[in-house]
Formats: sequence, structure tokens, C-alpha cells
Amino acid sequence: MLSGARIVDGTGAEPVRGRSVVVEKGVITAVVEDARAPRGNGVDLAGHTLLPGLINCHVHLCFGAEADPVRPMREEPVALTAIKALLRARETALAGVTTVRDLGGREYVELAARRAIQEGLIDGPRIVAAGRPVCMTGGHGHWLAREADGPDDARKAVREQLKAGADVIKIIATGGVMTPGVEPGSPQLTLEEMRAAIEEARKAGRRTAAHAMAATGISDAIAAGITSIEHGVYLTEEIVAHMRRDGTFLVPTLNAPAAIATGGLAAGIPEYMVRKSEQVVPPHVASFQLAHRAGVRIAAGADSGTPLNFHGSLLPELTLMVKHGMTPLEAIRSATATAADCLGLGQALGRVAPGYAADLIAVAGDPAERIEALGDLRLVLVNGRIILRA
Ligand SMILES: [Zn+2]
Repeated sequence: MLSGARIVDGTGAEPVRGRSVVVEKGVITAVVEDARAPRGNGVDLAGHTLLPGLINCHVHLCFGAEADPVRPMREEPVALTAIKALLRARETALAGVTTVRDLGGREYVELAARRAIQEGLIDGPRIVAAGRPVCMTGGHGHWLAREADGPDDARKAVREQLKAGADVIKIIATGGVMTPGVEPGSPQLTLEEMRAAIEEARKAGRRTAAHAMAATGISDAIAAGITSIEHGVYLTEEIVAHMRRDGTFLVPTLNAPAAIATGGLAAGIPEYMVRKSEQVVPPHVASFQLAHRAGVRIAAGADSGTPLNFHGSLLPELTLMVKHGMTPLEAIRSATATAADCLGLGQALGRVAPGYAADLIAVAGDPAERIEALGDLRLVLVNGRIILRA
């Protein structure tokens, strides 16, 4: 039982005090008034804030946030990538992120990491993973993706990911930053290819995510029925209206280009990544603000693992979301209840309420007032098990 804390429940509601959270067998079974809480061995959280474990909807456990994360992927043995991915997963959970969605790994290492954590070999977050993203030949991320051309091949590429055990399907709608020779403003997979891929995912009950920076690619992904737009650099009024209409999520990943643009060439980041990041940062921020004002559902995701965009805490991303217009409570909701909805896990994760998984964190201070308080972590539970107590 956890008592004495101020509770931020994940829904965006104001914090409440004087309630205790009862946890049994990994699940929150009751939230009761402190005075009515059963006596017994509990954790006293006076002066702290209790909230749902955070959810990072966009990570790459196989990238290490090096100045050029592509190089180790090419040069190091895959077994080493696997060991590193597992350590990054542990670091992530210990930083209060209890669920991640991995949107592109290497040789299905991230699926093996998911299993290692499920089997209890190491502490880590719940992992929802895409396996290989599906891109056009030579498309963005082709060095880790399954290249596919034409609707039939896109369909087969999705089937391969499902066969490998993917929880979600990632498709590449436009160019991006981390691949030389492609531009963020260029559309890539066609509407017909995306329709085929998404239909195949839906048949298997899987959700979909599109890497989408350019407006045409974003529009086509929405028309094809995508669940979430990743990055969404060049949004328009018309696009955000469609996203609202269809309930499409935006996962902005503000810190990904921001970290590259800030580190720059001085940090050893390849020139093509720096140039493209500097180009996308201003429209990216404007698009985030446009979507937020329009009421698009925004789920937090950092693209962790890209240059200088480190695994672990989600605070750098949430800080940027607050800097660019969200209230701290809105940013917390985007990383809890809304993120869970984006993953299709809104009935099980992302709230402090009876019936929800006991993925919980406690921090000193009040993050609803000051988002930075999320950095002062005192307790982390995954599935009701304490993995950090400070
Ligand atoms: Zn990514």
C-alpha cells in the first residue's frame, strides 16, 4: 500500500491528497481515503507525488544516442547491440519510464529484450515493439528497415514483422534526418502502399505508426488510417483538422532534432543530420503548437537513442513540450493516459485507478507545478514490484 502522497492520476485532473493506493498482485485494487486504508506494511510517501509510470511512445533501444548512432549499428556485432539494448531498457525503467514503444531495432534484438524482461532476467519497462519499419527501397531508415515496393510487397513486409512477433507496425511515409540522401520534405511510401500495410496490420489487431515529416506523407498516412504520426514536422491547419476528426495521435519527438541542432557539428554529429535538423526545428515547434491548440491528442515520445537524445528519463522531452505551450499536467497526461491510449493499452496502463497495472512512480515535490520535479525520482514500481527506492 502506498499512502500519504499527492496523487496525479494521469487523466489531466488536478492532484488529490489524502488517498492511499492499494496494490495486489501487480494491479491497483483500490484508491481509498488514507483514514480508511488497511493497516499494514506500506510505503509512506508524505511530501511526494505519486503518478502512473511514464510511457515513452518512441524509442530505439538499439541506438545509443552516440553522435552517429548509425555507425555502431553497422560496425558492432549484433550480440553486443543486444547487451547494450538490455542495459538501456533497465536504465529507462529506473528513470521512471515503465513502458516504451520501440519503433525500429536491429535483427529483432528489441523483441528479445522484451522477452528477457518478461522472463524476469533483468528489470525493465514493458516493451511494445515494431521490429523492422517498412520503407521504400532506399527510403528513410533503409539501413534498419524492410524495404518494400508496391502494395503487395508492403503487405508481405508487414506479415514478416507479425511473424517475428511485432506488437505494432511502423511505416516510413517520408524522408528523415538520420539517413543521408533523403529529405524530410519528400514523400516516400505511396498512399496505396500504406493502405496495404495498414490493412494487414489491422487484420492482425495491430496498431500502426508512421514516420512522417512532410505534409503529403502525413496526409496520405492519415488517409490510409494510421494510428499515430511520428514527428509531424510540417503540419497544416487542414491536417490537424483531419487528425482531430479521425482521432489520430501525434507523437512529436521534439527532443530528437533539437538535440542534434544543439549538439551540432562540434559534438561530432554527421553534417547531413545537423543540416536537416536545423531546417526542421522551427516548423516542428510550430506544428506541435498548432496541433496542441487544435486539440489533437498528443502522446509523448522522445525518439530516444538518436544523437545526444539519451535513454532513461523522459524529462527532456516533457520539458520541451511545456516550453512550447503545454501545462505540466497536460505534459504528464501525454506521457501517461494519452500515451496508453495511443498504444491501445488505455484500459490497463497510464492511470492511478482500480484495475490498472501497478506501474507507478513517486517523485519529491509537485510535477503538476514544476515539470522538473519528475527528475527527483524516489520510487518506481513495475507490475507492483519495487525496482527503485531512493
Ligand atoms: Zn525514431
